[in-house]
Amino acid sequence: MPNSTEYTVEYRNVKHPRCEFKTGTLLIILPKTGWTPQQVLEKYGEWIKRKQGTINAAIQQTAETAIIKTRTENQLRMLATKFVQTAETDLNTKINKIYFKKMKTKWASHSQNNNLTINTLLKYLPEDLIDYIIYHETAHNVERKHNETFWNLINRKHPDYQAKEENLLAYWFLTQEITNKPESAKTQRG
Ligand SMILES: [Zn+2]
Repeated sequence: MPNSTEYTVEYRNVKHPRCEFKTGTLLIILPKTGWTPQQVLEKYGEWIKRKQGTINAAIQQTAETAIIKTRTENQLRMLATKFVQTAETDLNTKINKIYFKKMKTKWASHSQNNNLTINTLLKYLPEDLIDYIIYHETAHNVERKHNETFWNLINRKHPDYQAKEENLLAYWFLTQEITNKPESAKTQRG
């Protein structure tokens, strides 16, 4: 475990410690008692190293030109609506409402009353990934948990879902880069 790994710690009502890379840096989720971040870093050191390797490789593969810069938010809305309709037919279910907003930690979310919230950052993604995200969220109408039933459902339409999930991770970092750094700061550097 390299000492240079940056991380943030959150204490939650969980039984076991957990690590996530969702927001670009390592997040260590700890039960309110019993664990220190150092213990988790030691226990999950190998996993963290592998995950970091995957992320770095994915970022290098996805050149910045892969980001779609020409799609407007309105075009995203139309495209997403179309994909929701297809997913509804495929999964024989119905989404209640679709909301669009800028989200800081995820591409999309599904609520108990079958509403979808879609991150407007999706406008930077290629169509097949937008399609995947929407199919994934719509499938949560049928199965809320990420269990075997759920992944079987996903596998029907997106047998390459694992590659897509990894790709999405790379895109997450790329979109964070272009939305968090002011354009001037980017161009003024060397
Ligand atoms: Zn999900």
